[in-house]
Amino acid sequence: MKAFEKNIRKVEPYVPGEQPQRKVIKLNTNENPYPPAPGVSEALLSMDMERLRLYPDPTAGNLVHTLAEYYGVKDEQVFVGVGSDDVLAMCFLTFFNSDKPILFPDITYSFYKVWAELYRIPYECPKLDDEFRIVKEDYYKENGGIIFANPNAPTGIYEGLNFVEDIVEHNQDVIVIVDEAYIDFAGKSAIELVDKYENLLVVQTYSKSRSMAGMRIGYAIGNPLLIKYLNDAKYSFNSYTMNQTSLVCGVESLKDKAYFEEQVQKIVDTREWTKKALASLDFKFPDSQTNFILASHPKCSAKELFEALKEADIFVRYLSGERIKNYLRITVGTQEEMQMLIEFIKNYIGKGA
Ligand SMILES: *Cc1c(COP(=O)(O)O)cnc(C)c1O
Repeated sequence: MKAFEKNIRKVEPYVPGEQPQRKVIKLNTNENPYPPAPGVSEALLSMDMERLRLYPDPTAGNLVHTLAEYYGVKDEQVFVGVGSDDVLAMCFLTFFNSDKPILFPDITYSFYKVWAELYRIPYECPKLDDEFRIVKEDYYKENGGIIFANPNAPTGIYEGLNFVEDIVEHNQDVIVIVDEAYIDFAGKSAIELVDKYENLLVVQTYSKSRSMAGMRIGYAIGNPLLIKYLNDAKYSFNSYTMNQTSLVCGVESLKDKAYFEEQVQKIVDTREWTKKALASLDFKFPDSQTNFILASHPKCSAKELFEALKEADIFVRYLSGERIKNYLRITVGTQEEMQMLIEFIKNYIGKGA
């Protein structure tokens, strides 16, 4: 090791899913298989090039306002960023600044651990139970803050609002962040609790249900005081995080509620179809309320099936981690894609693997 390396802020980075640049059946990073709302492509095609010469609005005012109206909150309750990864990283930096450990589940979005390590935040990871559910009593102890995903990833399990409220209620002296990346496929959002609990922050994204992972838009909704602290940190870091194109397209997407609901319903229908097909092939999986399924087969190695699928240009996600090493996380694609996946697996298992 070079002498200068001892003062370098070292971190083991998050490893994103593969993004193959040729056309494959891509079920590995929970993208939406359908295009964004038609208004988004119209807005893109009629972008004012002159506008790109200038810096974007640092407050992202129009997008913030449109989101606030959409969710029935005040503008001062909305923070936006470059995907929810950017929003969440900013939250870790701003809110998790205690000597006591923050808490998040042992099996969850693996970026939480990376940010905690990057910012040198102490953390503890209570174990999900044997059915991969969060045990809410584990979050009653003293801590420096809490973050969990609901629905959780990669399990796909959604807990109702009473469950979320119970954790928030037991932790009113710290900030509780609920990562709702998949909420549109699941159930009620905790956004309806933000006026009741000043310590609650709800984070969502355009990447999954809104088919706009490539645009990088995420947002947090909470008490105006929390949003102010987030903005103070953001303006001390990079004033112009959101690019002009995303600001315009983000607003357009929210205008077309009918299209949005129709695409979400298609995914939900295909997800339920896929669950039945997987169950008939003896796969075991938690009852996902997201756009992915975490599935395991009692007789076949997840790693080997992952490799075989990849050979056939069907990409799914294999996540390391002791408790889930025999599981595959399969994104719900189009109905046709899922039929091809199931056909492949049928043949694979039939071959006596
Ligand atoms: C996909 C995902 C995110 C991040 O999504 P962005 O594309 O950065 O908005 C955050 N949390 C969870 C649980 C996710 O699955």
